[in-house]
Amino acid sequence: MDLTSGSPYWVLKNAQSEFHPPLERDHRCDVLVVGAGITAALITRALVGEGVQVCLVDRRQVGWGSTSASTALLQYEIDVELQALARQFGLDDAVLAYRACEEAVLALTRLARTFKRVDVRPMQSLYFSSRWYHDRRVRREGALRQAQGFALDCLDNAELQERFGIDAGIGLLSAVAAEVDPVQLARCLLDAARRKGAQIFERSGVKEFAPTPRGVTVTLDNGKRIRCKHVVIAAGYESQQFLSQRVARNRSSYAFVSDPVAGGLQSLENCLAWESARPYLYVRSTADHRLIVGGEDDAIDIPFKRDASVWRKADILRKKFCSRFPRQSFTIAHAWAGTFAETADGLPFFGPHVQHGPRVHFAMAYGGNGITYSAIGAEIIKGALGGRKHPCADLFSFERLQRQ
Ligand SMILES: Cc1cc2nc3c(=O)[nH]c(=O)nc-3n(C[C@H](O)[C@H](O)[C@H](O)COP(=O)(O)OP(=O)(O)OC[C@H]3O[C@@H](n4cnc5c(N)ncnc54)[C@H](O)[C@@H]3O)c2cc1C
Repeated sequence: MDLTSGSPYWVLKNAQSEFHPPLERDHRCDVLVVGAGITAALITRALVGEGVQVCLVDRRQVGWGSTSASTALLQYEIDVELQALARQFGLDDAVLAYRACEEAVLALTRLARTFKRVDVRPMQSLYFSSRWYHDRRVRREGALRQAQGFALDCLDNAELQERFGIDAGIGLLSAVAAEVDPVQLARCLLDAARRKGAQIFERSGVKEFAPTPRGVTVTLDNGKRIRCKHVVIAAGYESQQFLSQRVARNRSSYAFVSDPVAGGLQSLENCLAWESARPYLYVRSTADHRLIVGGEDDAIDIPFKRDASVWRKADILRKKFCSRFPRQSFTIAHAWAGTFAETADGLPFFGPHVQHGPRVHFAMAYGGNGITYSAIGAEIIKGALGGRKHPCADLFSFERLQRQ
């Protein structure tokens, strides 16, 4: 599967990386993590912190999967609004998911700040109504979140004009958000895990695995075998290859990054912004005052078609951004696209699937705030392997498919 098109910004920014050799002999470990993206890195860190002996294999290199294409806004708001999630799962579970995301954003920001090499910045997040007929819905969303104890300000048109230069009916401004360099974060997490004993093998694809009552035998593409007690499949959007039940659908998502903007990014310097339309337009800055604009998701799942769409989509994103933020000038430097998977209800899947039994744990952090989900998933999987159940374990398990 070809996960990215064009020139993902983090690939250009972090071009040089340390190379971990492939696994070329049979091996044993307690837990094998499949994948070396941000999800696997967070899980490995969590397990190593518990004293678990972890080995990690990736078909590519650390962070070079979808993590390299991510625009890496860290938000507690799920793509599905709280009010819509409450209609699907009930208010208690909807609030549980939102609250877990809020805590995960704060924890991720604290964690990323422990590494000097990782660009990470706490931000505000603005969710604005981008159609006049969304105003009532967004106002209700703000009121529900406030009633549930989420701190946010509701801004009216005059305040949005004055503070952000946006002509929108209503905006929800929250102080819990951040932006990060996801590739550097994955690398630093895995460097730290390796210093504590984790073993990392790149260019080592998993072909198949066979659970037994006492463990799992994993076979790599080169025929070498790994015997372990548990496997964690953190293979991003390629995890579906190990499941016969389709649990998500693949789409493509597009983004561009500007040259550094002389004079800074005005109101967007410290604020992420996204709109109420779906698919949504969103925007963030970088530490060196670039603008990253993303969105224009479509149902394309054929890499060469996505490759051909990158600059056309970048132009659409540019026009949409300029009509929303007319005061901001910039020049596009690079554009890219990536595969992106969504579940039907907007929630991720973490845990075992009945097809493979209790020793094979999936970590499918699917959705617009996939990195936030990855951080929750790391806690769910750490808890499951340590005999402790995370509060979100049931809601984020495959079992909810049975209930739908
Ligand atoms: C354009 C775009 C914008 C996005 N924006 C945001 C955002 O703003 N905020 C946010 O939170 N999320 C965002 N996401 C989602 C986020 O990027 C993903 O949730 C996250 O990167 C997934 O990380 P991962 O580690 O699960 O997957 P990946 O980074 O893809 O890592 C999985 C790894 O598994 C390896 N692998 C696959 N199969 C095998 C196998 N058989 N054997 C061995 N290794 C294997 C791959 O090589 C890969 O390195 C965005 C995604 C895209 C594409």
